[in-house]
Amino acid sequence: MKYVDEYRDPKLARALVADIARRTSRDWVLMEICGGQTHTIMRYGIDELLPPGLELVHGPGCPVCVTPIETIDKAVEIASRPDVTFVSYGDMLRVPGSHTDLLRVKARGGDVRIVYSPMEALVLARANPDRQVVFFAVGFETTAPANAMAVWQAHREGLTNFSMLVSHVLVPPAIRLLLEQSTNRVQGFIAPGHVCTVMGYREYEDLVRDYRVPIVVGGFEPVDLLEAIRMLVAQLEEGRAEVENQYVRSVTAEGNLPAQRVMEQVFEVGDMKWRGVGLIPQSGFRLRPALAAHDADRIFGLSTVSADESPECIAAQVLQGLKKPVDCPAFGTRCTPEQPLGAPMVSSEGACAAYFQYRRHAMEPAGSRR
Ligand code: SF4
Repeated sequence: MKYVDEYRDPKLARALVADIARRTSRDWVLMEICGGQTHTIMRYGIDELLPPGLELVHGPGCPVCVTPIETIDKAVEIASRPDVTFVSYGDMLRVPGSHTDLLRVKARGGDVRIVYSPMEALVLARANPDRQVVFFAVGFETTAPANAMAVWQAHREGLTNFSMLVSHVLVPPAIRLLLEQSTNRVQGFIAPGHVCTVMGYREYEDLVRDYRVPIVVGGFEPVDLLEAIRMLVAQLEEGRAEVENQYVRSVTAEGNLPAQRVMEQVFEVGDMKWRGVGLIPQSGFRLRPALAAHDADRIFGLSTVSADESPECIAAQVLQGLKKPVDCPAFGTRCTPEQPLGAPMVSSEGACAAYFQYRRHAMEPAGSRR
């Protein structure tokens, strides 16, 4: 398949691994931001192919994982109302709130539906004028244009029974926060290619200038990631700090301007709490006041009650690249994808789920491996 097979080519991958080893003269710590990239790294064992001392740590780029527990609680409360049809992507249903999750609301008879696009929620709203249809808009900049378009369309049609519970987060402020931490170990970042397809990569230039940290926009196939790692190592070894674009088949400097325009019309930027990380200034989208009629937060008048994570879960440190999932005492025992204690074990993009799926053998005694 074009644009897939050539990026999984073992010969190319081996050549890149050799080139990375040749260029690496000292220890470096690199972070891939996106959970999709983490899964590729685990699935293909890319971290195990790198020279000793070249460490990959995993960033907060799983939107399901960083959706605040308070927002999950709000979603549960809205979805439990008899007059509401609550619409969401499937991976949000099992994310634990402070007491329960959306899947249990559905099991108890709540009208919770899984869709693949916010436009499906619009169809439901048109067909069911006697019900409030609420879409759970979660994601990074990647999914924001489609969600913005759905709100814009609902507004244009005068649909009074369609609203969104918005929990959109933005990548550059999260990188800035990581770089501000005294505990930060990361010396180079692989920026998420899908986010940059929408937003371009100009917005990373401030970070490179302010912190002298190299950033390479990377794709999601193994050859993409190896090439992005090679580009980062080359910058670090040569003492350079620049924004570079490995994912040239999809990303341009400016990004998708029509998508940015519709986002701009519908959303404004505000402070946002990230699960496991805390409040990050100017790191999220919320609906503009002119679209308050479609803002589920305002329509249902829910107050935010702060909620506590499971005390065992070290997701905060995992999401900031300070610890690996296997460092968590609950990993693979009290916390599994079937019985998750924290969000990174739920989502298909979560780092803990990736380790559970591809790196469980690291936890098992050698004699028990098949
Ligand atoms: S393994 Fe489970 S409990 Fe541990 S950090 Fe990951 S999600 Fe949290």
